[in-house]
Amino acid sequence: MKFVTDGMLGKLTRWLRMLGHDVNYSNSLDDDQLLEIAKNEHRVLLTRDLQLYQKAMTRGLNAFLVEGNTEAEKLAKLAQRFGLELDFDVTVSRCPKCNTKIEPLAKEKVLDRVPKTTSSYYEEFWECPGCKQIYWRGAHWKRIDKTLEEAKKALKT
Ligand SMILES: [Zn+2]
Repeated sequence: MKFVTDGMLGKLTRWLRMLGHDVNYSNSLDDDQLLEIAKNEHRVLLTRDLQLYQKAMTRGLNAFLVEGNTEAEKLAKLAQRFGLELDFDVTVSRCPKCNTKIEPLAKEKVLDRVPKTTSSYYEEFWECPGCKQIYWRGAHWKRIDKTLEEAKKALKT
């Protein structure tokens, strides 16, 4: 799905991109710019600002008021509303930093770009063609799974 998120949702933006969604985000956009993007790019506006949400609704835009305290709770609300999958699939992931779809990268191409301990321990790597960031299944992947498990639990309650 395609979203545009307000400046308060930087963390949620990274989550949605990791889950494969196209998210337009910049913390320097004002309300009118966010509404313009939602309209022109046919994106769902995600916001925690009730006033902005109401403005979007009166203009007939697709918007969602994001409630919940933790990222897991927010993801659960989004999953409930939009039927989002809460499973992490790296083949559809986008770069959390810049929204570009990440691509597999041969191990020999990362050898001089990641710490030696990393390249000796991991076999699979991905690169963002946009910002050149390299990703691998490091410790943060376990945290990703944990948060998604929490989100799934929150969805059931
Ligand atoms: Zn990137």
